[in-house]
Amino acid sequence: MPPFSFEIVAECPHTRARAGLLHTPHGTIETPVFMPVGTQATVKGLTQQALAEDLGVAILLANTYHLYLRPGHELIRQLGGLHRFMSWPNAILTDSGGFQVFSLSGLRKVDEHGVIFQSHLNGDQHTFTPESTVDVQLAFGSDILMVLDECPEYPVSHEYARQSMHRTVRWARQANQHFRSRVAESPGCHALFPIVQGSMFPDLRRECASALLDLDSDGYAIGGLSVGEPRPLSLEAVEATEGILPRSKPRYAMGVGMPAELAEYVARGVDMMDCVLPSRNARNGYLFTSEGRVIIKHNRYKDDPRPLDERCRCYTCSSYSRAYLRHLFQSGEILYAVLATWHNLRRYLDIMREIRHAIISGSFPEYLKCVRPASEDAG
Ligand SMILES: [Zn+2]
Repeated sequence: MPPFSFEIVAECPHTRARAGLLHTPHGTIETPVFMPVGTQATVKGLTQQALAEDLGVAILLANTYHLYLRPGHELIRQLGGLHRFMSWPNAILTDSGGFQVFSLSGLRKVDEHGVIFQSHLNGDQHTFTPESTVDVQLAFGSDILMVLDECPEYPVSHEYARQSMHRTVRWARQANQHFRSRVAESPGCHALFPIVQGSMFPDLRRECASALLDLDSDGYAIGGLSVGEPRPLSLEAVEATEGILPRSKPRYAMGVGMPAELAEYVARGVDMMDCVLPSRNARNGYLFTSEGRVIIKHNRYKDDPRPLDERCRCYTCSSYSRAYLRHLFQSGEILYAVLATWHNLRRYLDIMREIRHAIISGSFPEYLKCVRPASEDAG
């Protein structure tokens, strides 16, 4: 079996959900999987040991835009690649930087060759091309690389979304050709995923997915979600492409979602997801539990001796009370961010394990039914 491959171990006969194994040079990942976001080659607040050993994270995401600007891909290459640099034993997926260029950088200019942008750190001018972002991610040594894409904001006109989508497809072809020539001597050690765009227009989504099929990639991503659109539209955008993307390849819905939405994406054939929500919300005092959301600053928790989530087996819930967590939050203590992130990530990972178990045991439709009425609360 090549180092990078995907096998499906169970499929739900009533939805499009499937459970699989994604083999990478840095370990096998059970899917569907949630990937914590390590923007700056760190998941804020947690050590790599906690992530890999305690939480069982098999793959995490790092951001090309940030690491390219600081400390720089050449420095990371010199220090042995991203795995060694951050001492991370498991798989790493990097985005292409496109999303951050469009959301963070000030002045930017998109043309056929790529995107010229100003660093949000010091205003320096940089260029990303489909080829250069592959080179940057290969310097990182990422297991899964993403192609450069244009991620339009929401809403945009059908005409703009169409032009932008065609550009994304052309860039994906260029990136794919460059990638294949770069990895010709070590095939199967890295995978490059193209990204389906097309804003919230199902016809453009379908056209984009069909055009990307020619690349015969190891996996496909669905981008342009979570850009301010109403939630039902994100699910429709995923649905539009499900029947087109090959069943035998992993599908990655980028930047989603809330706890109650995870199963909805899986039901639409998604195998991989990432989101900053569990870690960012944790730091802001929003905690996800099996009983719904807890806003830890609320006065009612000030003398609450119970664990945050009585059903959770994480380090935070096994050791500390809501009253203590609230105290740490109110005092602005660093330990609060550590404990809160630990729990929220565990919650997401537990949900994914429940979903996987339900698919394998044939009870996914019932599982979906159970989590649906809870959406409001867990949202
Ligand atoms: Zn917990």
